[in-house]
Amino acid sequence: MSVQNHQPYDNQNIFAKMLRGEIPCKKVYENDYALAFHDINPQAPVHVLVLPKAPYVSMADFSAKASEEEIAGFFRAVGATADKLSLCEPGYRLIINAGPDSRQEVPHLHVHIMGGKKLGAMLVD
Ligand code: 5GP
Repeated sequence: MSVQNHQPYDNQNIFAKMLRGEIPCKKVYENDYALAFHDINPQAPVHVLVLPKAPYVSMADFSAKASEEEIAGFFRAVGATADKLSLCEPGYRLIINAGPDSRQEVPHLHVHIMGGKKLGAMLVD
């Protein structure tokens, strides 16, 4: 079922369990505010997810409630992860699914970093 932007945070969601270390992940990068790991079902040669460590359901939730420090720490982690993956020169794409039309599935905000090939058109119907 698609995530609603303002639904309550469910601390049993799969990413919450990964952040608590209850479920393993293939970690790429971590700072005080964010964790990055490989997607289990990659849609590109490189497909990594970056999550804020604090419990935010969606982009709407994060942008409304996160502190300046959390927002900066999170987006610095996105950039640092792309750099660590050597994606900066060839290029990459960021995707944040937000709300029902986007088909966000996991109710913990995450950025998809996709790369490792020419990615083609931005959207395909
Ligand atoms: P969304 O549709 O919410 O934007 O994306 C959720 C992403 O989480 C999907 O790309 C999916 O493959 C990934 N995912 C779901 N469950 C797991 C898991 O248990 N481990 C990892 N590493 N990724 C997962």
